[in-house]
Amino acid sequence: MSEAAASVRTNLLDLDRSGMEDFFVGLGEKRFRAQQVMKWIYHQRVDDFERMTDLGKGLREALKAHAEVRAPRTTFEQRSADGTCKWLLGLDGGNAIETVFIPEPTRGTLCVSSQVGCGLNCRFCSTATQGFNRNLSTAEIIGQVWVAARALGNVTHQVRRITNVVMMGMGEPLLNFDNVVRAMSLMRDDLGFGLANKRVTLSTAGLVPMIDQLSEAADVSLAVSLHAPTDALRDELVPLNKKYPIAELMDACRRYQAARPRSTITFEYTLLRGVNDHPEHARGLVKLLRRIPSKLNLIPFNPFPGTQYQRSGEDEIRAFQKIVLDAGVLATVRRTRGDDIDAACGQLVGKVMDRTRRSREFRARVQEGLDAA
Ligand code: SAH
Repeated sequence: MSEAAASVRTNLLDLDRSGMEDFFVGLGEKRFRAQQVMKWIYHQRVDDFERMTDLGKGLREALKAHAEVRAPRTTFEQRSADGTCKWLLGLDGGNAIETVFIPEPTRGTLCVSSQVGCGLNCRFCSTATQGFNRNLSTAEIIGQVWVAARALGNVTHQVRRITNVVMMGMGEPLLNFDNVVRAMSLMRDDLGFGLANKRVTLSTAGLVPMIDQLSEAADVSLAVSLHAPTDALRDELVPLNKKYPIAELMDACRRYQAARPRSTITFEYTLLRGVNDHPEHARGLVKLLRRIPSKLNLIPFNPFPGTQYQRSGEDEIRAFQKIVLDAGVLATVRRTRGDDIDAACGQLVGKVMDRTRRSREFRARVQEGLDAA
């Protein structure tokens, strides 16, 4: 079939439940067809309409003519010695994104990307060095779960290998709001992947107005990338802080939490040696976090080529954690997983056809450094 013919088809992975119902009504079918087809797609992970055997031949033909189930294609799959899996997924237009699965004894977490690259330029994140290309479509976001579930043999409602999804891959999810919200609804829908609300987590660098919008649009867990207890330091590490400083961010977190009384907000804090890992930083953090039901996730920095930062030492990490714990705030250290396959936080790079000047400059600087060496 020609490219032109393919492009007019609706990719069913772009539609949430109500979108799917509207699609079938548009085809002159009953709404409940949406349920049948969603079960095939998400529970059985079938993308071939011919295999949807409880649909009549006429409907199967109509679907073949007007629709498709098209997830990103797996370009490369890597499995780490510790069981972590990483998929490089090719997208239309030549870009690629990365998706990571992290198995643990009691759960399996899939880390999903929301954008090709990222425009926020957090100083210690390798995705930032890639620049930004575009938002992912709903199909490209939920398609990551679909591809991983298919590769892992996840059987919804029976053996569940993916128990949690975190929007912590490449990109800032709140800058791709509609597609992320739609994809997260498919993750939680019983006809989709059926995950409990609290097992789907959106992580943001702190877009204050969008946190309030998210509160209205989706009941999911919220994680916030804090990384510094003061505006002066956070301005430097997370430039978005200049627009939405810590006090405003914490207020938005309080509002989000208050709308879900039993929930806690997770704060992420990447420990950078000599930069934000002193005891005074830990004490400053305690003052911020004590006023909101929260937990702290300490992430030892994962280095990448060209970075100026280093990981804090084990002793500093433990001392930092102890100060926070002693003050009565739950604090965990995220164990680095999959670093033999560059699958750890901040190491996801994919392949970004950058549209910004910044990353060209960064690459030039790295090249200069290499030439000088
Ligand atoms: N843009 C969103 C989603 C990214 S989540 C956000 O900022 O929350 C990825 C998490 O890993 C964030 O907390 C991010 O700040 C952190 N991170 C980024 N680069 C890292 C690195 N090199 N080492 C450790 N953590 C890093």
